[in-house]
Amino acid sequence: MRIGIGYDVHRLTEGRPLILGGVAIDHTLGLDGHSDADVLVHAVIDAMLGAVALGDIGQHFPDTDAEWKGADSLKLLAHVNTVIGEAGYRVGNVDAVVVLQRPKLRPHIDAMRANMAEVLGVEVGQVSVKATTGEKIGFTGREEGAAAHAVCLLVESDA
Ligand code: MG
Repeated sequence: MRIGIGYDVHRLTEGRPLILGGVAIDHTLGLDGHSDADVLVHAVIDAMLGAVALGDIGQHFPDTDAEWKGADSLKLLAHVNTVIGEAGYRVGNVDAVVVLQRPKLRPHIDAMRANMAEVLGVEVGQVSVKATTGEKIGFTGREEGAAAHAVCLLVESDA
């Protein structure tokens, strides 16, 4: 087995969509970034890459590369799932936490899990997503940005 950790932050701004776990959430603010800025999927990607010690999301999808401008992060996740497969591993389970002051994410959590599980080719029960506010303190609490933390356990493909 191999374990990895991922962390990501994106700035909240007006005029951008709020996409988390591939779910477009209706809100007055969205996440800024080169891709669709899906902070949750980015943290999961880094956890997966970390588990196989194959660098990070910035190395695999440079923000200087026009190919990834506005990219659907679930497509990046699919690519990384192929990368870990080629390294001889598959996802055992993922656990993640999104830190966002507003809006409440509870109604969207299961859709995020289903989206990522489908892309990873695993059961929904292998993908956990949790959410917390920033308790109105720090950059998340002041709604300046959102953060996400993730851990991923990989198992050998033939195990
Ligand atoms: Mg990111």
